[in-house]
Amino acid sequence: MTTETSRLGRRIMTLFRPYRGQLALIMAIILVTSGLSVISALLIRTVFDSALFPYGESGPNLELLYWLVGVLVAIPIVSGVLNVTQTYLTNIVGNRVMQDLRDALFTHLQRLSLAFFTSTRTGEVQSRLANDVGGVQETITTTAASVISNVVVVCSTLVAMLILSIPLTVLSLLLVPVFVVLANRVGSRRRSARRETQISLAEMSAITQESLSVSGILLAKVFGRQQREIDRYRTENSRQVDLQVRQAMVGRSFFALTQAFFGISPALLYLVAGLELQGGSGEISAGTLVAFTTLQTRLLMPINQLLQVSVDVQSSLALFGRIFEYLNLRPQIVDAPDAIVLDPAQVHGEVALRDVYFRYGPSERDSTAPEPEDGDEANPDRGGWALRGISLTIEPGQLAALVGPSGAGKTTISYLIPRLYDVTSGAVCIDGYDVRKLSMASLASICGVVTQESYLFHASVRENLRYGRPEASYAEVEAAARAAYIHDRISVLAHGYDTVVGERGYRFSGGERQRLAIARVILKDPRVLLLDEATSALDTESERIVQRALDSLMRGRTSLVIAHRLSTIRAADVIFVIDGGRIVERGDHDELLAQGGLYARLYEEQFGGGEIEAHCADGVVLRSGRVARPSHSRVTEVAPGIMPTPELSPERIPPDAVGAS
Ligand code: ADP
Repeated sequence: MTTETSRLGRRIMTLFRPYRGQLALIMAIILVTSGLSVISALLIRTVFDSALFPYGESGPNLELLYWLVGVLVAIPIVSGVLNVTQTYLTNIVGNRVMQDLRDALFTHLQRLSLAFFTSTRTGEVQSRLANDVGGVQETITTTAASVISNVVVVCSTLVAMLILSIPLTVLSLLLVPVFVVLANRVGSRRRSARRETQISLAEMSAITQESLSVSGILLAKVFGRQQREIDRYRTENSRQVDLQVRQAMVGRSFFALTQAFFGISPALLYLVAGLELQGGSGEISAGTLVAFTTLQTRLLMPINQLLQVSVDVQSSLALFGRIFEYLNLRPQIVDAPDAIVLDPAQVHGEVALRDVYFRYGPSERDSTAPEPEDGDEANPDRGGWALRGISLTIEPGQLAALVGPSGAGKTTISYLIPRLYDVTSGAVCIDGYDVRKLSMASLASICGVVTQESYLFHASVRENLRYGRPEASYAEVEAAARAAYIHDRISVLAHGYDTVVGERGYRFSGGERQRLAIARVILKDPRVLLLDEATSALDTESERIVQRALDSLMRGRTSLVIAHRLSTIRAADVIFVIDGGRIVERGDHDELLAQGGLYARLYEEQFGGGEIEAHCADGVVLRSGRVARPSHSRVTEVAPGIMPTPELSPERIPPDAVGAS
């Protein structure tokens, strides 16, 4: 046994630790039943030699026979009852261990960082949870008990056989070591076949997940690549068949050989016994011989089973290895030992980044991989850095906009605040507390995130909205939906708030999904809002409604928005222009335009720079660059290139729908 195997073995043992009581009971039952079976074998000798054919008497000893038969009848009945009890207990223990293992794996996966999931295929993760844990189920539920009972049976039978006849025992055991060595060989081949099978299963699961998801299907259809997906699946599927057959067949001939040997060995015993009798030693009585052959099957069957089990165990060791591989991954982003819990009601919502450097490093999965060489902190101008020396402060209640070309690092900044990633150096602070010092739960209650892709669960609208605040009342849910301008849409659904939204919300239009996501965050009511405005072109009407929903969402919170809409940018208290991982300009719209730098260029390119008219929430009309509005007022509608005329009421001015990134 290699050290790796014994380490795995010890680790598997620890899974059983919580069930010591039940295991002890199982053990006791096994000891009793195997003791009973040995006793009944020894009684057979007494039946023959003392009751049926008593030495020196002409007829059978009936009184003794009645007793013996009574005991021989009682033993199997008692054993039967005990066996059922034992099976029940082993199933309980086995399935509980499985449950613990699945719980542990799922819980652990939940704690792994976003980086792990961005570098691992979903199907692969699912396969470990389903196929690998499922694969060891058999071993855990049946093997453990089978090993214990077989070992006990082998030992007790051996003792009984030695009592009966030492030479016959030696003869019976002669070939056993050969089988043990062979079984070990077969075991390791089975193990490698099993590992390959599981890898292939994970691959299939990943292919299925990737190509049968809504986005996958959509992509394959619009690119006409279904045949390629089918081929990919077929290839892996046929590999799967080869592997399964190989796995099933490895060692079959070996087991056939052992079976044959077990069938033949009683015949050999008779032969040896005959030769001994012929030789005149005469020690072997008929009763001994009958009892011995009974015991021999009782010895060889468990040995055979143990050999099989050892092969099964070896192949499931491969699966345990794969499960433990995930359990061994140390979550990168966890609570500090003395993590601070803030009362969300007391949080002001000041957000600050202090000289933040960040680079996307290895995830938990490949944390053994070498650090990127070209990213040393002494020379941050060289490659590898997504953010380089970002310092900014957003006052409580302010709206800050991040603007910049695609790939500049805007999304990365928004990831650092709720600790989806940790800074490489520098610090991110909320109300002066380094976010790494806050408890993850506390941080999650302070921050609300609305991403471009609004993920919805396959559950009712109400459950989806309540995700961030499960205890919210019906009235609160409705108020949030109204604020997000989605209540009217929900009301006309067949089952209103109880309508199931469908896988990832595909039953709703893009704008409706966004408003649902906005309502969800409004209900959660976080102090700090991180918002990635969608770039997807919505029609003018939905755009306008989404804009209104965003307006209600941002009111009264510190908001950091990756801005794509001119209305948001102009309403921002401060704009940070990001380029190549640095803040290259900062200020409000007018200041930045006046600077004539990157912002002015982006503005020119994307919004045409023409006459801009905007209608503020508080009724102030903005005119080309001169922003006259009270702080925190929100621009709701902006129309590029449209001059205000008396006929064109603000409500009829179409908002811009131009993407910035
Ligand atoms: P933006 O939001 O401004 O478009 P991002 O913050 O998404 O830009 O990306 C900044 C840089 O980081 C880009 O160069 C991008 O390629 C890189 N990047 C983003 N996500 C990852 C990731 N998970 N792993 C490695 N690099 C990434």
